[in-house]
Amino acid sequence: MSQRPLHEGLHLQTLAVRAAVERSQYGENSEALFLTSGYVQSSAESQARRFAGEEEGDTYGRSGNPTVRSMEQRLAALEGSEACMATSSGMAAIMLMCFSLLKAGDHVVFSQSMFGSTIKLIGSEFARFGVESTVVPQTDLAAWKNAIRPTTRLLFAETPTNPLTEVCDIAALAELAHNAGALLAVDNCFATPALQRPMRLGADIVMHSGTKYLDGQGRVMAGALCASEKMVNEKFLPVQKNSGMVLSPFNAWVVLKGLETLDLRMRAQSALALELAHWLEAHPAVARVYYPGLQSHPQHALAMKQMSGLGGAVVSFDVKADSPEQARARAFHVLDALQTLSICTNLGDTKTLLTHPASTSHGKLSEAQRQAAGIGQGLIRVAVGLEHPQDVQADMTRGLTTLV
Ligand SMILES: *Cc1c(COP(=O)(O)O)cnc(C)c1O
Repeated sequence: MSQRPLHEGLHLQTLAVRAAVERSQYGENSEALFLTSGYVQSSAESQARRFAGEEEGDTYGRSGNPTVRSMEQRLAALEGSEACMATSSGMAAIMLMCFSLLKAGDHVVFSQSMFGSTIKLIGSEFARFGVESTVVPQTDLAAWKNAIRPTTRLLFAETPTNPLTEVCDIAALAELAHNAGALLAVDNCFATPALQRPMRLGADIVMHSGTKYLDGQGRVMAGALCASEKMVNEKFLPVQKNSGMVLSPFNAWVVLKGLETLDLRMRAQSALALELAHWLEAHPAVARVYYPGLQSHPQHALAMKQMSGLGGAVVSFDVKADSPEQARARAFHVLDALQTLSICTNLGDTKTLLTHPASTSHGKLSEAQRQAAGIGQGLIRVAVGLEHPQDVQADMTRGLTTLV
């Protein structure tokens, strides 16, 4: 089923509601949800041609689904990439990327501040199959450069990072990668194409957890890889077909409809996050705030240039304390005093979610590793949703005022 014809040069907001596969014979205005695992073939001859790749058309759910294709076409349009492949989760997207592009002896460079499961998947699981990797400090371009070896195939960056919102220079990393004959992949989860389009800055692959802002309302798990048509068809598709990390059509449909409001949500949630970051920075119980939209952020200028002048919707902060024990108790106190907002490790929801990274996402690290990563016991991550800012501040004030 082919792509719905669209004019050249349409804006992101238009593509977000219009890019999809062709309508069915019923002329539905809202994209249809095709919940089917198989497809009826018009003849044995046609079926044979489809299996031989000589005729367009679906055969089985693991090889393709029109609703999933609509989501892929819409996300590709937003990222400005030729093609996209949806996966069952963000981690499945990383799995598919590494499985498709790497072999024993190949080397990957990635940042030490990446999503915890990414570090474990590449650094430990793929290591069992002979894939080597080096972790580098996120913002140190020289370290990225020095880590590159003749066998380096992939540089993998995430910007901004979780939970400290460190930013790296995508264009500079793309140049480093290409000079070394390697590819640059960017996890664009936190900024989304509404704020940042890594392809335009030279990235070869954009990876997404659709679980976060693409769905945007905390409903489904999903993931995706955006890349050239050649890479998607020749590298990702064969592995995807045979491994089955496919996205459910229902989840694809939810993300497809979520994408329609992505730009609005990212702008609104970024504005609310900036307001909260300013408020936290002025609060006497707060030691430090991490947010790319603040002047105090070490890569503020780069972030504003790279992220359309917005900081995204994740704000982290340290509560003031004299010892790690006291910091942990104080952070827990702030979370436990919440009445409206949620204690929840997810992010990218319309509901504001708070979490304590040192005891959750970074809980398995040793205290020394945590210190090196800058994840203190007093650190709280706020994934800002769409509640009224006064209600958010009032709820956080309950715990924070008792610390002063
Ligand atoms: C959540 C997340 C992932 C993993 O995505 P899942 O959909 O949970 O598998 C990867 N990278 C970042 C930055 C994330 O926030």
